[in-house]
Amino acid sequence: MKALIVGVNGQDGSYLAELLLEKGYQVTGWVPAAAPVSYENIAHLLTGNPVNPGLPIVMGDLSDQSSLMSTLEETRPDEIYNLASPSFPAGSWSAPVQSGDIAGLGVTRLLEAMRRITPKAHFYQASSSEIFGIPDRVPQAEETPFQPRNPYGIAKLFAHWMVVRYRERYGLHASCGILYNHESPRRGLEFVTRKIANGAVRIKLGLQKELRLGDLEARRDWGFAGDYVHAMWAMLQHEADDYVIGTGEAHSVRQFCELAFSCLDLDYHDYIIQDPALMRPPETVQLVADPSKARRQLGWQPSLSFKDLVRLMISTEYDNLK
Ligand code: GDP
Repeated sequence: MKALIVGVNGQDGSYLAELLLEKGYQVTGWVPAAAPVSYENIAHLLTGNPVNPGLPIVMGDLSDQSSLMSTLEETRPDEIYNLASPSFPAGSWSAPVQSGDIAGLGVTRLLEAMRRITPKAHFYQASSSEIFGIPDRVPQAEETPFQPRNPYGIAKLFAHWMVVRYRERYGLHASCGILYNHESPRRGLEFVTRKIANGAVRIKLGLQKELRLGDLEARRDWGFAGDYVHAMWAMLQHEADDYVIGTGEAHSVRQFCELAFSCLDLDYHDYIIQDPALMRPPETVQLVADPSKARRQLGWQPSLSFKDLVRLMISTEYDNLK
């Protein structure tokens, strides 16, 4: 089996590449040609690394139809995973048009390329809990109405509906995973979980004295990215459909801090400073997944608890920074 991972160098792409290589797939990784690319997450998988079968890399452009056609012509994948998108929802107001072009229209271009060149391939689209935005109910399931609240969520919703309609109109095997926040030691430092893990360890090592955060009462349904790539793969082995993927539990930023600092024998009260500049508009309704459809139909469930996730992030950060 041949797989193409679009956005292979991100957190999810790297875990998915590991999973598919373990399963014996021939995996090609796609990275954007026009943007600066960090290979840190996949350095251990790249071709030439003696312990791994190798991960060839192709470059392309989601804003260029011909580039995507060439990628599919050259790689002829059985499975296509689209994980490429600017991934920081809160930051998408500073680049709303780019969000729409890459996270929204880019997916349409990819679907068009697939329909013409590899119509029998199975397609995974990384939808996001951000499409629920300000939901009218808690928890959210597949039939919950969508009310995105930022350009990232709006672009993701456009892509989501395109996948659904391409599936219906052209009979493509195309599925969306509506993923809730998923974290790991490979998460970007702009996200709060990694910011806390990194800050707490730096404080422990004497590299920093305090950690400035925004709203400590904000809550998220946080899972482990390494678990979520199993759901992506399972979806493409099943009849094409859309699934909510999350843990079903929400925790606060404060709880994350408390656990993270206590893993290092520190009391978070002594180091956290609430910075009004980092506060976002209050969120009245929580984003919490109801992943029962995925559990029922895919047999998917998370393997790491919230505590295990915090511990993993702290211990990896400690090993790296020490
Ligand atoms: P996302 O907003 O779901 O994409 O994920 P983030 O990790 O950026 O934020 C999760 C929650 O943590 C949000 O409700 C933020 O308001 C809250 N938060 C509190 N302090 C911070 C901070 O310093 N940085 C970030 N990124 N989020 C923070």
